[in-house]
Order: sequence, then structure tokens, then C-alpha cells
Amino acid sequence: MSSGGCLFCELVRTGSHIRRADGFVAFEDINPKAEVHVLIVPERHIDTFRQIGEFPAEEVRRMLEFIVETARALGLEDYRVLCTVGPSAGQTVFHLHWHLLGGRDLGGRLPALALAEVEGEE
Ligand code: AMP
Ligand code: ZN
Repeated sequence: MSSGGCLFCELVRTGSHIRRADGFVAFEDINPKAEVHVLIVPERHIDTFRQIGEFPAEEVRRMLEFIVETARALGLEDYRVLCTVGPSAGQTVFHLHWHLLGGRDLGGRLPALALAEVEGEE
């Protein structure tokens, strides 16, 4: 998908942001999965993480730093950073974004549901 009609391109332009700097924005997820659930979105549109090679290396570094700075600004020490890549990995919006999840204890482990389902099929 191109950037035309992209929800996150629209939210980058017109949404209400927690932080904005240097080509990146952070805004609250509309359907939070943790006490703190923020999306980090680059202004530059690519569909998925798979195309990360289209970003200059310096921009990738700044994007990762923007995630760290956003977590710090939100007062998070421990947190989870997650990127869904493709529909069967849970991606529903095809503009690269990072989930920043934190707040109350996240449980200390990654969700094991998908693996449990695979093991259950044996
Ligand atoms: P993913 O499913 O990994 O592609 O993540 C997309 C995320 O965008 C989901 O967690 C949605 O809850 C979130 N989302 C969808 N529409 C909006 C919106 N209008 N504002 C904020 N977050 C949204
Ligand atoms: Zn977009």
C-alpha cells in the first residue's frame, strides 16, 4: 500500500501527539493493551519493517532513540517495544509503527499463546 489514504500518515499530520521530534511522532493507541500503550510512528511512510532498508541508517538510529526518549519521558523504566510485521504477525495498519508498552507489570514474559497453540496441534 502507498501512503495515499493511509490512516497513520493522516494521524501524523493531524492527530494529537504525545511527542513529536525530528520526523517521528508518538501517540496513544486507541485500543490500549497495557497501562501505557503508545505508538511510535515515522513521518516517512513505509508499509512494514521489512522495508527498513529504505530508511537512511541515521534515520533508523534516530527512530530507535526516539523510542527510548519517549519511554523516558513517560517515566517508564521497564517496557516492551514491539513491531508487528505482516498480517499473520498481527499487523493491521500498514505504515511502520512501534508499540511501546509499559506501566503495570507486563507479566515478565512474552505472550506464549501462539506457541501454545502450535504445541497443542502436535
Ligand atoms: P498493529 O495491529 O500492530 O498494526 O497496530 C496497529 C495499532 O493501531 C493497533 O494497536 C490499534 O489499536 C491502533 N489504532 C488503530 N486506529 C487507531 C487510531 N485512530 N488512533 C490510535 N491508534 C489506532
Ligand atoms: Zn502512511
